[in-house]
Amino acid sequence: MRIVTGGIAQETNTFQWQPTTLEDFGRPGFGTLARGEQILAMEGTGTVYGGAVAEARRQGIGLVPTAYGAVMPGGRVARAAFDALCEEILAGIRAALPVDGVFLVLHGAMALEDHDDAEGLLLAAVREVVGPEVPIVAPLDLHTNLSDEMVVLADALVGYKQYPHTDMPETGAQALRILASIVRGEARPAMAHARLPLVAPNQSMVTTWQSPLKTAIDRARELEQEPGVLAATVLGGFPFADVPFAGLATIVVTDGDPERARQAANELAGICWERRADFTIRPTPVADAIERAMAGPEGSVYVLADIADSGASGTAGDGTTVLRALMEAGARSAAVAQIMDPAAVAACVAAGVGSEVTLSVGGKHDGLHGPPVDVTGRVRLIHEGSFRVAGAMGAGTLASRGRTVVLEIGGRDGIELQLTEFRGHPHDLNFFRAFGIEPTERRILVLKSAAHFRAAFEPIATEVIEVDAPGISSPNLSSFDYRRLRRPIYPLDPDTTWSPG
Ligand SMILES: [Zn+2]
Repeated sequence: MRIVTGGIAQETNTFQWQPTTLEDFGRPGFGTLARGEQILAMEGTGTVYGGAVAEARRQGIGLVPTAYGAVMPGGRVARAAFDALCEEILAGIRAALPVDGVFLVLHGAMALEDHDDAEGLLLAAVREVVGPEVPIVAPLDLHTNLSDEMVVLADALVGYKQYPHTDMPETGAQALRILASIVRGEARPAMAHARLPLVAPNQSMVTTWQSPLKTAIDRARELEQEPGVLAATVLGGFPFADVPFAGLATIVVTDGDPERARQAANELAGICWERRADFTIRPTPVADAIERAMAGPEGSVYVLADIADSGASGTAGDGTTVLRALMEAGARSAAVAQIMDPAAVAACVAAGVGSEVTLSVGGKHDGLHGPPVDVTGRVRLIHEGSFRVAGAMGAGTLASRGRTVVLEIGGRDGIELQLTEFRGHPHDLNFFRAFGIEPTERRILVLKSAAHFRAAFEPIATEVIEVDAPGISSPNLSSFDYRRLRRPIYPLDPDTTWSPG
């Protein structure tokens, strides 16, 4: 069996003005550009390929790699970047023909500068090359905004079930198994989907607590145990994308039973709709969170999650509201990951380790994440920036936010501020440890992350507090100026009515 594989994975926050370029894909630790054998070498990592390559090996399937590009979530992808990656994948597929199947690795919420549905475009291009008979199966992120084109063009789509996404390898393996069974003629996929008039904040999709989305996902897991159900997926969607088809959707793939697929997709959608009011998130005022953390018992660790400025949701990553409040409160033993500010990094590097500097940091990218804040501190560390992720999500992958400075504000036990050249999402303890900060020994950890931090930090946290600061991954969806999103949609239009099927 010969399965050709490649893909493009990016999550687009359309409220981010800065486009995502090919250079971004190619920046190690910020993006991933893997070609040929480099794709197969991802076996065993905490990625989709980590599981899919291992599964192919186990089954003795010949996996023919083309090209794979992934990058930190951000603004719309430049058309030139998409075209270049797409053409490389298509050239690889043409060279591999004839093939038995296509394993296409997608995120599901990628938009281009001039097109809302990048996955639909890529699937159409691949379908044109391989023709109507060759099965195409794609694993998807839980935050997929599902378009009709994706459903029409793919034979089977399978989403992650965990947020934080600790099940990327399992989903990759599952999708590959489904593709292999189709190729062998053991399964004839019948796929159905339901798209709800419902958009929900990312923070309400978390599966480390019984979020409303998890209730539906638990049912999807049960459905997958039933004979004839190949995959059952609940997509939370990505709400920070102003595209017509953003929001929640469900997909069920059965073996040759379209009616059963339709029923099951509607059942999962019904569970989400029933609980639509529960997707509301009410973050804590920043000052209250800091006060609670500072009053905590000796040895406690409070995670203050800056959920509205999450690099993993494509925000600026330079929000200053929490840092300003820490300084006003005279907080001690606080470590901040991180504020993106290349100019501040350059100034600290020029000053050198041990120097005292006075800088205006953050708040420069788009004016949507709080104004710049003046700080005086000592440059404790200058780091080239790269390190390996060790925890449950993305294990073994490289992370980098570019050159990274640790600035000590208020003395030895004050505020340790990481200044970075690029935004990032601190979802692993090594976002501190790599820079000489032991997170289990700090009273306050400020994380610019909507939810992925939970995989590594919930186990060490006395308490996680989602704080109310501004940004373009805010759970307050009514603060966004949607123009392309379909209407009516809940909760923007509270009286929206709907019933599954
Ligand atoms: Zn996601």
